[in-house]
Amino acid sequence: MESESKYKKIVYLTFPPDVSNKPVVCNLTRLYDLCFNILKAQITPRQDGQMTIEIFGDPQAFEHGMAYLKEHNVKVHPITQKISRDEQTCIHCGMCTALCPTKALAVDTTTRLVVFHPDKCSACGICTNVCPVKAMDVFPENGHN
Ligand code: SF4
Ligand code: SF4
Repeated sequence: MESESKYKKIVYLTFPPDVSNKPVVCNLTRLYDLCFNILKAQITPRQDGQMTIEIFGDPQAFEHGMAYLKEHNVKVHPITQKISRDEQTCIHCGMCTALCPTKALAVDTTTRLVVFHPDKCSACGICTNVCPVKAMDVFPENGHN
């Protein structure tokens, strides 16, 4: 289940023919408690496969899961992610500021409003999970999906 302080990452995977029919992506859930959404997939038996997935989970589990895929000859290509904030939707509740690891979301001590500094953002996706009004959005930049 998607948890409040967990990473959301998008990765593009390529599979050699002998791996295309194995449940390596499903094993990310079974072995590492990672959840995933398949954004795009092209898997044909006995041919190279491609898949773009969005993964949710603990950052350390994510690293272990990616290592597991690589051990099984799956090539993992991180997709550059970009975070944006809908300024009209944000209600400045401050929930994201407590969890943002880079302080890209912080309270302005003068105005008491929550300010977003995109230059400090690591695109970890945590804020997109906690924002009650879905003002923060994550989207891929380098076009694999
Ligand atoms: S959690 Fe959402 S609504 Fe609250 S301050 Fe952060 S971006 Fe704005
Ligand atoms: S603003 Fe950026 S660094 Fe901060 S929680 Fe959101 S995605 Fe992560």
